[in-house]
Amino acid sequence: MEQLSNYRPTKAVIDLQAIRNNIKNLRQHLQDHVQIIAVVKANAYGHGVIEVAHAALEEGATILAVATPDEAVQIRQVIPGTDILVLGASPVQFVPYASEHNIILTVFSPEWILEAAKQHTTKTLLLHIKIDSGMGRIGTASQDQLHQLYDAIQKVPNFETDGIFTHFATADEEDAVYFDKQVSNFKELVHSLPSKPRLVHAANTATALVKDPTLQFDAVRYGISMYGLAPSGYVAQRLPFPIEQAFSLETELVHVKEIRAGQSVGYGATYTAAENGYVGTLPIGYADGMIRKLGGQSVLVDGQRCPIIGRICMDQCMILLPQAYNVGEKVTLLGAQKGEFISIDEWAARCETINYEVPCIITARVPRIYNNVR
Ligand SMILES: *Cc1c(COP(=O)(O)O)cnc(C)c1O
Repeated sequence: MEQLSNYRPTKAVIDLQAIRNNIKNLRQHLQDHVQIIAVVKANAYGHGVIEVAHAALEEGATILAVATPDEAVQIRQVIPGTDILVLGASPVQFVPYASEHNIILTVFSPEWILEAAKQHTTKTLLLHIKIDSGMGRIGTASQDQLHQLYDAIQKVPNFETDGIFTHFATADEEDAVYFDKQVSNFKELVHSLPSKPRLVHAANTATALVKDPTLQFDAVRYGISMYGLAPSGYVAQRLPFPIEQAFSLETELVHVKEIRAGQSVGYGATYTAAENGYVGTLPIGYADGMIRKLGGQSVLVDGQRCPIIGRICMDQCMILLPQAYNVGEKVTLLGAQKGEFISIDEWAARCETINYEVPCIITARVPRIYNNVR
């Protein structure tokens, strides 16, 4: 979303060059005919969908993937032409827009096709069949269902089976039993079709980089590592090339004050100073996605780690400073500062979650600024 104004110094700085490098490296890693589907759902994992989409397309991605019809519309309003694949379910009411604007829909039920066929289409509607090979989410799971679906599509003059794909539940883990089972389920179903659709795809980041780099089919769906994050510790230790974190989070000190031993800070007065020192106030809080669970996390000031003290408020939080820095001093919450670095993985560990979640929960109140504007 466009920011109307940007007076507060809190911002997410997105390194588009890092994203470009992460895609360039993947390109080297793929066979020439294999297409890159850049996964830019959820506002490009919180990085800003339009800017990331442009960067990905310039580095050779040929298809953009989103989760919802509305995300596809948002891109199409700015980027004409390029194939956009909606990975999730779409209502049949989206069919007219999708056919007119070259948006590829994911399908998995013959009933949906019958309803969708009643919608007005101006051009051919491209469809990718989703196979549930073991994820248990959306998708067709049996040969019978697949053939019913395929036949239903064949009967609609303006509908075309352009692709078929599946998604792996355990590609980021060491054990291969469940993964191998999904691969064989998928291959069996694909081979049962009377003809191969244009695009067969299965690999997410973990599969393409580590779990089975030979399983490229016609395209790979590249998400998390495009943003410079590894899907899991298992994958992180086996990456075929280094990846660069693209997301930084920065602000400035807006108030610095002395605190005396015995004085407390924040709601509930949960922090009490053991000795005299300095407290800095940051204009960022849980309404920005800096959730309360991050209490105790360090931030960087002048290249030094300073702990957050007391409870994180809705719009502000406080840190303990080693000296009296000036108001306006730069504070880095995520990313690099003077040789120190705070990773998204570090935040994820503190929040007891996965790195995927961290940039996604930095809310729209935090403007995304690009250090590599085209
Ligand atoms: C999100 C998503 C991806 C991307 O996964 P990463 O682990 O981020 O590479 C690929 N395919 C589907 C169906 C997805 O939903």
